[in-house]
Amino acid sequence: MRGLETERTVSNVTIRRTLGIAGALWILVGYPPGSLSAQDSKDSPIPGDVVRVGRLGVFVPPPGVTVVAYGDFVDGTGEQLVVETLLDGTVLINPPDPMASPSPTVETVAPLATGECDDNYTDVSSKPWADTMQWWFHSSTTPPTLSVTEVVTDLRAGTQNITHEVNTCGRPDTVSATSNYNGSNTLPVNITNDGVCASNGDGTSEVGFGTLPSNFIAATCNWANLFFRTESDIRFNKNSIYTFTTGSCSGQFSSSYYVEGIMTHERGHTWNVRDFPSGHPNMTMGDANGQCPGLDDKRTLGLGDMLSLELVY
Ligand SMILES: [Zn+2]
Repeated sequence: MRGLETERTVSNVTIRRTLGIAGALWILVGYPPGSLSAQDSKDSPIPGDVVRVGRLGVFVPPPGVTVVAYGDFVDGTGEQLVVETLLDGTVLINPPDPMASPSPTVETVAPLATGECDDNYTDVSSKPWADTMQWWFHSSTTPPTLSVTEVVTDLRAGTQNITHEVNTCGRPDTVSATSNYNGSNTLPVNITNDGVCASNGDGTSEVGFGTLPSNFIAATCNWANLFFRTESDIRFNKNSIYTFTTGSCSGQFSSSYYVEGIMTHERGHTWNVRDFPSGHPNMTMGDANGQCPGLDDKRTLGLGDMLSLELVY
């Protein structure tokens, strides 16, 4: 029998625990969001708890594992949630990342260049891939309105748009990131229907369609060990208020999302690039939401997208 489920929210951080037979006391965490450290407290989150901040959630991982959740929403915004369990059991929620950009309020002082080839904003996270990212597609999850063959073409193109730095700015591809598509399988994307990243990946980077809350376009969950990224799962939301389309955006309904464009953005997350704040509409990692027939369908990388990748790879 499943245990009792309890939940508390403090300062926008919600921790939910399913209690075992012993009936542990419920767990109040009173640290401010953004710098939550719950060291040596019986109120601390522990592996198996669910931590929720904003619209994202992560199962607390075992010691030595970091989980990075990205949600991309139909309003064009994105959110990130990082939960890291140190070897001593300390759970860090949204710890400051030494590679992350300074607060975006700094940049509002000077006028921003926003063109695809002159916006030089960068924002990346640590723990890169050490080698080729091997991935699979759970093809039986494809919506019946789409062709599996065309979806695979778009997913592979979206991945290569990142690893090959595909752009219209005349810049060469200099990043070392590589990927290998291993075909279709039936393993799960380790993201729940309410958008929560599993505590520990299964070691297989999986892409699929599935249920997420209706305001999601897609979600990416990344897992890392102490040093390197080890898995990146992506779920496209079948439950979105908008649909997906493949091939060209021309002639498509404006309410459709182009699979290749969204995949390119999610693959930016796979390779450590974070969501850019508002004000970067021509960046693949910016706030344009990738709807057809938008001016920027996100397939080609902007300068800031490439500079970000090049910081890590
Ligand atoms: Zn995003």
